[in-house]
Amino acid sequence: MPGAPTAHIWLPYTQMQDAPEPLRAARTAGSRIILEDRRELIDAVASWWTACHGYNHPHIVMAMEKQLHTMPHVMFGGLVHEPAEKLAARLAVMLPGPLNRVFFADSGSVAVEVAMKMSVQFWLNQGDTGRTRFLSFRDGYHGDTLAAMSVTDPDEGMHALFKGYLPEQVIAPIPRDEASADTFRQLLHDHQGEIAAVIVEPLVQCAGGMKMHDAATLKGIADAAKDAGVLLICDEIAVNFGRTGTLFAHTQANIAPDIICLGKALTGGVINLAATVATADLFDAFLSDRAEAALMHGPTYMASPLACAAANASLDLFDSEPRLQQVATIEAQLKRDLAPLASLPGVVDVRVKGAIGAVQVSELHNLDWLKAQFVEAGIWLRPFGNVIYTMPPYTVTSAELSAITGAMAKILPRWAAREIDAE
Ligand SMILES: *Cc1c(COP(=O)(O)O)cnc(C)c1O
Repeated sequence: MPGAPTAHIWLPYTQMQDAPEPLRAARTAGSRIILEDRRELIDAVASWWTACHGYNHPHIVMAMEKQLHTMPHVMFGGLVHEPAEKLAARLAVMLPGPLNRVFFADSGSVAVEVAMKMSVQFWLNQGDTGRTRFLSFRDGYHGDTLAAMSVTDPDEGMHALFKGYLPEQVIAPIPRDEASADTFRQLLHDHQGEIAAVIVEPLVQCAGGMKMHDAATLKGIADAAKDAGVLLICDEIAVNFGRTGTLFAHTQANIAPDIICLGKALTGGVINLAATVATADLFDAFLSDRAEAALMHGPTYMASPLACAAANASLDLFDSEPRLQQVATIEAQLKRDLAPLASLPGVVDVRVKGAIGAVQVSELHNLDWLKAQFVEAGIWLRPFGNVIYTMPPYTVTSAELSAITGAMAKILPRWAAREIDAE
């Protein structure tokens, strides 16, 4: 519509020809998004899983205000600064084992690109030129840039559409059972010498449909990667900072990844920042007399002081407020509230892990109607794939969470009965 408020905006993942006019956000507060027309929505998805402390937390706002007046940004080439040094040191302490070398990026996708580049160059630096591919998993999601798309699920990553343009990777099933474990190990074996690293989202494949696997399965993946002599990348971008019940998801499996990617909730959801964290051994492979052995990457806004100040303030809140306890409380309520939905017609599965609750349906029809019904109920919720899910701020109140799960319980049966078709 020419002249419409969004006449110059290109929306993400949206067919612009027939997209409904988007809602207009004016303010945020606590777990709420307040629209220009004053309607208030409880954010059931924490702004793409970022706002773990709720919105506008005063501690983060204050830290950013202070940083804004001192030094909002400065380039990271040849200069370092206290907010970045402090953040890197804190992450190194929080992360287990030798994961202690932090490379900052400006988005999760770029952190994944950096992890992939690090992996290939790790081998190149040792004279191994053949390891230029990755093993990744069905239903995985690692970002929207090209290399990240190539390790994303072939359907989700639109591998067919972009065929010839994306590097071809080795895609395996998550080894949940004996058959898939055999396939996974066989693929690792068949592509021996070609694979630089295995990349996995630990415990929950989020964007691929909130598909969950247990710690033993994750341990199996890590062990197989080790046996095959390839690197292991854990992409924690969606699950980091408490989402699955522990600060980092991979620690539940007691594994030792070579690289982990952090993002989304790293700043508490106020500003973009991501990080690729490598082990001391991996870092050492880049030390050389040869200049070209150095890591060849450097995003313009990497380690932005403003973003680092926000992340440092976010980490403070994990110490000063009971976040992991809140996640455990949310998990218990989600289990209680969502269990009855399993028997609804059209519902295939109900899954809960930490502060993630997902209802998988056989087929996601009438998506716009479904979203509109949730908005009418005062809930901001974005179903995708074949799941209707919530990933609320950890500070969501029990009453707000009840409103979210209550709306699911009320709207799902009407949606399953295709009431929309009768309207
Ligand atoms: C969101 C996400 C990314 C990409 O992060 P962006 O900041 O959107 O580029 C990568 N990996 C996982 C697991 C994610 O959930």
